[in-house]
Amino acid sequence: MSSQEHNFSDLAGLHSLLKRQGYSLAGNHAAVKTCLWLRRAMREEGKCYKASFYGIESHRCLQMTPTLMCNQRCLHCWRPVEVDAPAPDKWDSPLEIVGSCINSQRKLISGFGNIDRRDLWSEGNEPKHVAISLSGEPTIYPYLAELVEEFKMQGMTTFVVSNGTNPEMMQRIKPSQLYMSLDAPDEETYNNVCRPRSTKLWNKLKESLEVLRDKNTRTVIRITLIKGVNMFHPQGYAELIKKASPDYVEIKAYMHLGFSRGRLPREAMPSHEEVLDFSRQIADHLGYAVADAVEISRVVLLSRDGSVSLLE
Ligand code: SF4
Repeated sequence: MSSQEHNFSDLAGLHSLLKRQGYSLAGNHAAVKTCLWLRRAMREEGKCYKASFYGIESHRCLQMTPTLMCNQRCLHCWRPVEVDAPAPDKWDSPLEIVGSCINSQRKLISGFGNIDRRDLWSEGNEPKHVAISLSGEPTIYPYLAELVEEFKMQGMTTFVVSNGTNPEMMQRIKPSQLYMSLDAPDEETYNNVCRPRSTKLWNKLKESLEVLRDKNTRTVIRITLIKGVNMFHPQGYAELIKKASPDYVEIKAYMHLGFSRGRLPREAMPSHEEVLDFSRQIADHLGYAVADAVEISRVVLLSRDGSVSLLE
């Protein structure tokens, strides 16, 4: 069924739809969803590429967003971008969000355990890593910097993935690793792919690239490649990435999942070979090298000298 066929007429409809997609709503506006690698890791059936690249323990990873609101409507988004997630009457505090997300995660994994590895399931109940990257743009939550600090105070490392349209918040936050999505080599492609809700966002995104350059934390530019849509002009990507001088560049294939299936054909997924080839072209223009690649996830990692260090 395409996303356009769903009834998004009210918030309750949106919430019940998200629940059916495996999201658990946490508090008034946050959401949690376990990724398939968490379940697989608990059953010793594999680990996410972030385990290979950065040493993240997949079974202890909490994937969440403080808000489902977003100022873009990307073609490749897995979320139902055709409906607006409304602003809450009142924002939950960072402390409330951390508590409600951990509770939601525990409920979601309650049936996951591998009877032989009860220890992994028990560890999963105490997440050590938070990926603030689920759906929605996290920088819209006005206390994101404080939320990152709260997770840190509770002993967790943090990844934040932003679409880069809020350079002021990019400036304030200090996660263990800060990602910015860059899904176009130029403004026209950006408008086609990310469908921003304001004409000012391309310039904001370019400002964020400069902010990223001056961050003390580890930084990553993430590109989602969509065949026939944004998979051209590697030099254009490289010129933009140079402004940010990130530690890493993660280049991933678009995956034909969730609500994106109503917007893009299955053929828009590039193969791993195609991702690798395009990544090498970006790396050549950028002066970076391929540091790692995980075929099953169709993802390639670039770094300045071809090496990668684990997250501490
Ligand atoms: S920025 Fe992220 S959450 Fe927003 S529409 Fe794009 S992919 Fe979806």
